Amino acid sequence: MKQPFVNHEQLCAITAQYPTPFHLYDEKGIRQTARDLYKAFSWNKGFKEYFAVKATPNPAILKILREEGCGTDCSSLTELMLSDAVGFQGEEMMFSSNVTPREDYQLAKKLGAIINLDDITHIEFLEDVAGIPETICCRYNPGGSFTLNNSIMDTPGEAKYGFTREQLTQGFKKLMQKGVKTFGLHAFLASNTTENGYYPALAKILFETAVELQRETGAHIAFINLSGGVGIPYRPDQPRNDIFVIGEGVRKAFEEVLVPAGMGDIRIFTELGRFMLAENGALIAKAIHEKHTHKEYIGLDACAANLMRPAMYGAYHHITVMGKEHAPCDRKYDVTGGLCENNDKFAIDRMLPKIELGDLLYIHDTGAHGFSMGYNYNGKLRSAEVLLKEDGTAELIRRAETPADYFATFDFTGLFKDLPKGKKEFIFDEPQPVKY
Ligand SMILES: *Cc1c(COP(=O)(O)O)cnc(C)c1O
Repeated sequence: MKQPFVNHEQLCAITAQYPTPFHLYDEKGIRQTARDLYKAFSWNKGFKEYFAVKATPNPAILKILREEGCGTDCSSLTELMLSDAVGFQGEEMMFSSNVTPREDYQLAKKLGAIINLDDITHIEFLEDVAGIPETICCRYNPGGSFTLNNSIMDTPGEAKYGFTREQLTQGFKKLMQKGVKTFGLHAFLASNTTENGYYPALAKILFETAVELQRETGAHIAFINLSGGVGIPYRPDQPRNDIFVIGEGVRKAFEEVLVPAGMGDIRIFTELGRFMLAENGALIAKAIHEKHTHKEYIGLDACAANLMRPAMYGAYHHITVMGKEHAPCDRKYDVTGGLCENNDKFAIDRMLPKIELGDLLYIHDTGAHGFSMGYNYNGKLRSAEVLLKEDGTAELIRRAETPADYFATFDFTGLFKDLPKGKKEFIFDEPQPVKY
């Protein structure tokens, strides 16, 4: 069974302080996940997790991860700025971007982040806009389909990312001519995997490729980045990854391929987002409407603008009705948000306990790719983010947007000239809290 990381009483106290909806994160769980990962890869000297910032771009979360020894994986200018602001320095940042604007490369180079090139044409582009650093990483795309135990896990041949195998050899040679001294190799071949075999299979491909590249070009390869893709069980009946089995599987491939080739000093990097944070976050929302038509509906004060995965991918997110954890799930509901989009449904035909207006719903596993995929469609505002700290207290780590934020990118100067003298801005009435 899936258990919330807060109980009903705790959550009532938090919602008395911070109104719903908000994403809630569990500091204790985040630290434990990071510690388990580091333990699972402790056999590798120099192992480092570069947390994928896009999963949860919040400075308070990044600060916790930094304390646990993690770096960041950035893919844009603002993600680099965020990492810099939190105090990550130089090679504590990976920059794994694609279709990269020039100013992004310029900042990555200036900060000394490890640049992970997505394409061979980026060599000249980077040289042009920022110069070639001494350490660089290249992203590999082997093409075709990626199979594990005879089943297709993903189709890299259809993915826009990375160098082909031939381009890696050419690219390494070209980069060496341009003064690169230290190389890394990276690939991301399947997303949200729940089989322990994914990382070891990927590692074997990258290790073998690294050995070939070393022989072909004489390049010094110092690290291999296994990127993201280790998943979590969103459904209560799904098997759970075992990070220790995964770490051991990667170690075996390392011993088999790299050690005999004299490359046993290679550092392993990861860029996990989902595995680190997904289960350590939840979207907390309140039931504000019920509707009885062709189906039974429960309407929440959150919507797909706060959590896009169900609408975008048909993704399953488990729901716990707080205070009714042990009540029979004898009602079938569609649980919806208020967007003018019929796919704005957190759950369809979900068996849940009878829901009363005012009930708090805990939508599981929103800690990664949850808040960060949010948007402002229908003028909906982004929610707050709250951290449940190890000492049991709650801290607001991002305030909720207000209408003023929504309007901040308009220039109202033309409208203001008609406003009564002395009145410089539109006044919004403070919304009154509704009691159920
Ligand atoms: C998204 C992404 C990640 C993180 O992926 P998860 O599935 O969240 O682990 C890591 N690296 C790169 C380059 C990515 O684009």
